Amino acid sequence: MFAGKEYKTGQITNEILRLPLTVIMPLFYAGNDLNNLYNALCEHYYSESIYTAIREKLKEILELIKNEKPFCYFNITAEKTLIEEVLGDEALKGYSVSFGSLDEPLLACVPQDSNLQKYMTVLCAIVEAYIFLCADTYNFFSVACMYFANLTDMGCRDKTFFASFTEQYFGNEEMVKFIEENNPVEITHAFTLEPQVWMAPVIRRDEKGLPMLGRRTHFNRMLNFYVTDMFEGLAVGHYSWQCGICHKFFFMTTAHQQLYCSCVNSDYGVPCSHVAKNKLNMPKQKKEDGRGYDTWKHRDDSIRSKLSQARNNKPNAKYDVETCLKAKELINRYFEQAQIDFDYAENGYEQDMILENVFAEAKRLLGK
Ligand SMILES: [Zn+2]
Repeated sequence: MFAGKEYKTGQITNEILRLPLTVIMPLFYAGNDLNNLYNALCEHYYSESIYTAIREKLKEILELIKNEKPFCYFNITAEKTLIEEVLGDEALKGYSVSFGSLDEPLLACVPQDSNLQKYMTVLCAIVEAYIFLCADTYNFFSVACMYFANLTDMGCRDKTFFASFTEQYFGNEEMVKFIEENNPVEITHAFTLEPQVWMAPVIRRDEKGLPMLGRRTHFNRMLNFYVTDMFEGLAVGHYSWQCGICHKFFFMTTAHQQLYCSCVNSDYGVPCSHVAKNKLNMPKQKKEDGRGYDTWKHRDDSIRSKLSQARNNKPNAKYDVETCLKAKELINRYFEQAQIDFDYAENGYEQDMILENVFAEAKRLLGK
């Protein structure tokens, strides 16, 4: 559960891997800037310009991420409201007065239990969270990219392989050193394989309002969340795979031998799986690894059984042979369409493949 919605474990990792460099790099630099501003906030005398600069930096980060998965799952509006509350012009006026009344207008000199201290605690927590967001996303992105690119190269497809490959990969001293040296953000700890997590048992309500037992997981920073998501995802067989054509990462929920992503390739205008099918030198993708195959298989089985009823003149036969053959032709056509048309696969395929719809369309085409 994340922001009230359910996501498959490993999905967040996959979405981080798919972030474009035009988001990752500015995010990294913004995090660095914010960290410098935070140091100034802690060390210097109160100055409105530092607080204003922090506010603008936080807004800049929000603008950068608000439309990008997985960050768009955050409540961006609530974040903006919170930033306005602790860093808006009104708040700053108040700080100016409060700090002005201190012997030394320093953060360290703010009196215990004062109103100003309450505000400063919230403000610091927000700024730290954003620094972690930027730095951890960048660090995790770079480590996870390397790891999944290697995993893809090795062709690992089952849990034992995942585990032994992961053990070798992260257990390798050279690799650990490499990760540390390439961890460009010094303000935070390096990539960790031992994320700190707190678990709490909770009672929540299901959709019908009935109580159900669950557990809530708390993370004190993004990196711990990312690493947990990645390993939990691998453990249940949800993982990222690098497309052999566009080299983007895509999310796998089964160990199907899917080699290419189903996203439309901008160079060809059709999904990568279809590009591969038509390129002689690429390994072919099997039909059962195609998008929407499970649905196709169910319908195919149903139509076969109806066809056999029709052929044997069974009294329960609902459709004649001609209609059944037309229905079969239709589901094959829909399936083919779903392989090359991403929009159709997402928005029209499942609806068209409903058995009643298939037969209705078959009858319509036959004029029955
Ligand atoms: Zn692709």
